[in-house]
Amino acid sequence: MGSTFPFRVIIVGAGLGGLSCSIACRRQGLYVLVLEKAPAITAIGAGIQIPPNAGKILQSYGLLPLFEKPAVRLEWHDMRRYQDGKLLASRPVGKEFIERIGAPWMVIHRQDYHAILLDEAKRLGAEIRLDANVTAIEFDRTEVILSSGEAIGGDVIIGADGLWSSTRDAILGYPSPPSETGDLAYRATFSRQQLLELNDPRVEDLCTKKKVTIWMGPDRHCVFYPVRGGAEFNLVLLRPDNLPAGVRSVQADLDEMRMTFEGWDEILLKLISCISSVLKWKLCHHQELEKWTRDRIALLGDACHPTLPYQAQGAAMAVEDGAVLGLLLGQFAHKSASNHVAAESNDRVAAVLQLYENLRKSRTTVNVLGAVTNRNYFHLHDGPEQE
Ligand code: FAD
Repeated sequence: MGSTFPFRVIIVGAGLGGLSCSIACRRQGLYVLVLEKAPAITAIGAGIQIPPNAGKILQSYGLLPLFEKPAVRLEWHDMRRYQDGKLLASRPVGKEFIERIGAPWMVIHRQDYHAILLDEAKRLGAEIRLDANVTAIEFDRTEVILSSGEAIGGDVIIGADGLWSSTRDAILGYPSPPSETGDLAYRATFSRQQLLELNDPRVEDLCTKKKVTIWMGPDRHCVFYPVRGGAEFNLVLLRPDNLPAGVRSVQADLDEMRMTFEGWDEILLKLISCISSVLKWKLCHHQELEKWTRDRIALLGDACHPTLPYQAQGAAMAVEDGAVLGLLLGQFAHKSASNHVAAESNDRVAAVLQLYENLRKSRTTVNVLGAVTNRNYFHLHDGPEQE
């Protein structure tokens, strides 16, 4: 696909949000350059849920068939009691749910999700530059400056540079790091074979049913589901943060991890016993930003609304942001071209970005706050409130 317009979109960061934005912009015929600081695309993260709102965007990009093999379409969401695994609630998310909502609820390894979006962005003609670390932004000229000193200009710059976004600080004009939530996560994956060797019918049941299982207990919860078409499984253990302030992640002490879940459902403990090495990650979020845009620069994804992952919506919101931006910028560029108006006009581009912020901010704030509310529900202590 060639560029219909000279309108140039520069995207800082090739995460799930930046790639969604690049696909959406290319589908509108805009020129897209993605600048990614990593020298190579490597496997980052573990399992990730793709709730149906994100599934609908992927459907609109024509990508759902590519998810058939690596992802698993869920049929159930089960909530269990921490001590004995008693089933507290089971929510069907299979055929009827899909018919009602219009898209499946899927689970996948982040690496597979990322690979699908990256391939599609490239196929549509987005330019992806690795080893391109953006160190500064020149607002007057709508330029990014790379660590090499190279300056790259565009009509619009999208900061999709994640939790520790420097574009966020540049837009706000002051450092605004995310705040610690007080929780941390251990994330592990296992092969199906490893779990079947446990020789336990309840583990086998977990491995054969297409479901997310959540164990809820005092100050902690655990989430388990299949990835890689069911050949692997993902376990996330959430607990109170005991890392020193400012430390983002460390290799976990396995004994400490096991002790944290002492007394929990024995099936869960069997799963935990399979973990031989794991990182623990501090979980951060950010209060609603004063603004997401300045001149012709805007933020998306974790750069502007990082969240606790307790609604499984962080990446989904980033993917939605990218889709909305692509649509608005595309409509704007088309209209400007047909009216023979310079699309590059500063005020007009800034107004489109402001419209994007107005459309997206309250929805993403609701998600960040909803994830905190979910923590309160998931982590209730035994007692009347829990009952
Ligand atoms: P990122 O994925 O962080 O991408 C940012 C990119 O920008 C990176 O590639 C980075 O290298 C690059 N970059 C940074 N700085 C620069 C620079 N200066 N120059 C150039 N490039 C730069 N979300 C869900 O939807 N469902 C889930 O089930 C889910 N589970 C989660 C479980 C856990 C334990 C955690 C921690 C998160 C989970 N999330 C989930 C959230 C999700 O992972 C994030 O919200 C999502 O990945 C954010 O995407 P992003 O594109 O905004 O940022």
